[in-house]
Amino acid sequence: MKNRPSGFGIDELPRVVRGKGSYLFDAAGRRYLDGSGGPAAFCLGHAHPEVNAAITRQLDEIACAYRYLFTSSALEQLTDTVLRLCGGDFQDIVFTGSGSEAVEAALKIALQYFAALDLMSKRHFIARRRSWHGNTLGALSVSDFAQRRRAFEGSLLDVTFVSAANAYRMPAGVSGENLVPHLAAELERAIVAVGPQRGAAFVFEPIVGAAGGVVPAPDGYAQAMQAVCRKFDVLMIADEVMCGSGRSGTWRALEHERVVPDIMCIAKGLAGGYIPLGATLVTARVAAPIHIEHGSFMTGHTFTGHTAACAAGLAVQHIIERDHLLERVRTAGQILKENIRRTLSTFDEVGDVRGRGFFIGIELVRNRETRAPFPAERALSFDIGARAFADGLICYPCAGNVDGAAGDTIIIAPPYNASDAELQEIVEKFARAVGAALGGG
Ligand code: PLP
Repeated sequence: MKNRPSGFGIDELPRVVRGKGSYLFDAAGRRYLDGSGGPAAFCLGHAHPEVNAAITRQLDEIACAYRYLFTSSALEQLTDTVLRLCGGDFQDIVFTGSGSEAVEAALKIALQYFAALDLMSKRHFIARRRSWHGNTLGALSVSDFAQRRRAFEGSLLDVTFVSAANAYRMPAGVSGENLVPHLAAELERAIVAVGPQRGAAFVFEPIVGAAGGVVPAPDGYAQAMQAVCRKFDVLMIADEVMCGSGRSGTWRALEHERVVPDIMCIAKGLAGGYIPLGATLVTARVAAPIHIEHGSFMTGHTFTGHTAACAAGLAVQHIIERDHLLERVRTAGQILKENIRRTLSTFDEVGDVRGRGFFIGIELVRNRETRAPFPAERALSFDIGARAFADGLICYPCAGNVDGAAGDTIIIAPPYNASDAELQEIVEKFARAVGAALGGG
């Protein structure tokens, strides 16, 4: 029985001993530049002294106060901070321990909302192809990630899937300018087919992460989908676990689209991985009937609102705001994307370089004209990831974005406080790994 983790085509994982800023160090003395913040999570790098000091202070006072007995200033301050950073449209927060739990809570809150309104037939979720929402059964049910679903098929919720919003891989016969109307019409048909009296919520990632290799929806998409949802009284759940908390250059990814979803999930960058923390945010419209009928949200766990995790989140968000790191993510992200595009332009196999802020995806194709992917067996993205890792660069390879099996993308998502020199090192090492993998060297 295998008892060691393995990942991303790396045969034997090194033992990490410490981190400092954008770098990690292993027991053999090797140094790794964290070009993807692990899985787009470590937004302030590693061992930030101020975050560590805030956690230590909290641990010295109290690690965790049980949510049914106490509130705490860490919990209250983080709640106020996140509601403010989100632009004031949300009323309530349910803290969680992960992104999957945040999605799970969002699904349950949608169902509870309709239960509070005595609309018990509204139980059905609509989600999108090529999406990832997490590993718990509910979150997995609304995910279209073939390889991660396969072993659980038969026990997942019955969910309706509509097309991904991918301008690089559009549905047959659809062109750029009619992509958004096409997708809105498809959602409308799906809701009508399900029956508006059954449709509960539409779940989507504003910028697809692991299942697509950073796929921002085309402009106008979220507004068009929201109009369809409103027409049929279907809630809109935005999963910003990967793309949110500043990763794409605005605190909420959907700020870019000027859209406020009914429910929103965040996690990775909220506490930057210093302690596991996620959250589900709920607008007043959804919260009100629940408060009136049920008093509170019927979701949560023993460690919900864990005090030290909230202290970590508060410190992370304080530093991001104080050091104007979202401005840095916006401006340096644009330069980084152009630098990657220019440096990789010599490779015919680089089909697309896309994304916003410090959330950049590179898609590799066998044929640039037809956009045909490499065969899945080639495992090109993992090959690139493993070569980069051996050269001291962490990036995030993803597979299966084309048909569930084939498709090679790689995510670059540095810490928001990575220096210009570190960003340059990412580009150089990444280009070297791409060249070595394509050249077979
Ligand atoms: N939603 C999205 C968009 C994600 O990218 C992820 C994880 O990668 C999740 C949900 C699940 O989060 P977690 O792994 O923290 O449970």
